[in-house]
Amino acid sequence: MNSDIDMSPGFAYVDFWAVHTFYGINSVSWCAVRFIEFHDMVSEKGSRVGGGSAGAVLASRLSEDPEVDVVVLEAGGLPPPLSDVPLLAAWWQMGPLDWGYHTVPQAHACRGLRYNQSFWPRGKVLGGSSVLNYMLYVRGNRRDYDHWEQMGAEGWGWRDVLPYFLKSEDNRDRGAIFNGHHGVGGLLTVSAPRYATPLARAFLEAGRWLGYPLTDLTGPSQLGFASPQATIRDGARCSVVKAFLEPASHRHNLHLSLNTFVTRVLIDHHNHAVGVLIRRSGRTRLILAKREVILSAGAINSPHILLLSGVGPAEQLTSFGIPVRADLPVGHNLQDHVTAGGLHFEISEPVALVEPRLMTLRNAMEYLLVGKGPLSLPGGVEGLAFLSTQLNNKSADWPDVGIHFVSGSPAADGGSTIRRVMGFRQEVGPLQIPVPSIRLA
Ligand SMILES: Cc1cc2nc3c(=O)[nH]c(=O)nc-3n(C[C@H](O)[C@H](O)[C@H](O)COP(=O)(O)OP(=O)(O)OC[C@H]3O[C@@H](n4cnc5c(N)ncnc54)[C@H](O)[C@@H]3O)c2cc1C
Repeated sequence: MNSDIDMSPGFAYVDFWAVHTFYGINSVSWCAVRFIEFHDMVSEKGSRVGGGSAGAVLASRLSEDPEVDVVVLEAGGLPPPLSDVPLLAAWWQMGPLDWGYHTVPQAHACRGLRYNQSFWPRGKVLGGSSVLNYMLYVRGNRRDYDHWEQMGAEGWGWRDVLPYFLKSEDNRDRGAIFNGHHGVGGLLTVSAPRYATPLARAFLEAGRWLGYPLTDLTGPSQLGFASPQATIRDGARCSVVKAFLEPASHRHNLHLSLNTFVTRVLIDHHNHAVGVLIRRSGRTRLILAKREVILSAGAINSPHILLLSGVGPAEQLTSFGIPVRADLPVGHNLQDHVTAGGLHFEISEPVALVEPRLMTLRNAMEYLLVGKGPLSLPGGVEGLAFLSTQLNNKSADWPDVGIHFVSGSPAADGGSTIRRVMGFRQEVGPLQIPVPSIRLA
C-alpha cells in the first residue's frame, strides 16, 4: 500500500453549504443531495469517477436501483449559474471550469495558432464538458455505429443505440418529433433556439441554392442544411447536471463528492479494479468499491488515469517507473474533429452577433424573463450542414464534412473571447472592432 495515503478518520465534506449558496435560488432540489462522510476506509457498493456527461447519465441510471450505492467523484465544483446562458458558451474556456489542455507544438498544422498549439477545452466542473459545450444536439451517423459493431463492438450498432437516444430525449419542438427519430418525456431537454438573426435564414437559403435538402440532421437522413436543435430548456443550457443529476438528487443511494481529484484506480492481484485513490483538500484518501469502479473522466483524463494506474503501453509506463498491470494500447487512436475556423464574411447590414449590440439591458431582461432573445442562441451557432464532398460516396448518406455557421466572428467581441479561445495568433483573422469603454475624461 502506498505510504502517502492518509488513513485518518473523520473526513467530512462541507460542500452542502457551497451547494446551498450557489443553488439556493435556482435549484432548491440540490439541497437534498446527500454528501458522504468518508471514514478511514469506505466500502461502497459502487463507485464512479468523473461527474461529466457520461458520468451523470450513469449515476442517474444506476441509482434507480436502491440496492446500488453510487458515489460520484468529481474534480471540479458546481457550475456557476451564468454557465446556463447559451450565448456565453465559449466564455468559460481557458478559465477555472476548464482543464486547459493544449497539444504540443505541431510541425505541420496549427500554423495560425499561438505557438502552433491547438487548445483542447474540457470541462472541470460538475457536468463536465456539458457545462461549456455548444449544446448542439447531433448524433453520430447510423453508419458509424454500424461500423463500430462490424469491428466487434457488440451492442453498439444503430438499432441498438437508437432506443437509448429516444429514451433520453425530451424534444420540445412539435414540428420535430414526428419522423420517428426523436423522443419525448426523457430527461434531456432538446429544443430549437427561440431566436434567429436574418443570417440564419440566409444560411438555409444558401443550402437550398446549392441543391441540398433542408432537413432534420437528427432525422432519417443526415445530409443537408438545418437550423440546429440544442440541449436547451426554456431558453437556458440543459447540462447533464440539470437533466440527470438534479432529478436524482433526492436518492439516498446517490452520493456526490466535489473537488475530489482521482489520481489512480487500485487494481488487485486478480486484475479487478477495487477502488481509487483521491486527493482532496491536500490529503490523499483511499475509497474502496464493493462492486465496480466506472471510469468516465473524459477522452483525455480517462486514459490518463488508466496510465497512472499501470494500464497502458508497457514501454511507456516503465519509462515513468509505473508498475505495469496490463500492457494495453491505452491512449492510442485518439481522434478529434478537425476544425478550420477561417472563413469569415464581411456583411453590410448590422444583423450579426456583435458584442456591443448584444450586451444590452433589453436583451438581458428578455433572456431572464422569458428565455428568449440573442442570449439564448447556443454559442451563436445558427446553422448546421452535413455535406458529401467529391471524395465521398454521395449515395451513402454518410457525409464527410460538417459546417457550423456562426453569426459572429473573431472580430465580434473585440478579441475578448472568440479569438482567445480559438488561440489565433495576433496576425491572423479579421481586424478587431474596438469595444466601447467608459473612462474619466
Ligand atoms: C468547447 C466544447 C464544445 C462542444 N460542443 C458540443 C456540441 O455542441 N454538441 C455535442 O454533442 N458535443 C459537444 N462537445 C462535446 C461534448 O461536450 C463531449 O463529447 C462530452 O461532454 C464528453 O463527455 P464525457 O463524459 O466523456 O467527458 P466530460 O463531460 O468532459 O466529463 C469528464 C468529467 O470527469 C471529471 N474528471 C476528469 N478527470 C478527473 C479526475 N482525475 N478526478 C475526478 N474527476 C475527473 C471532469 O472534471 C469532468 O467533469 C463539445 C465539447 C467542448 C469541450
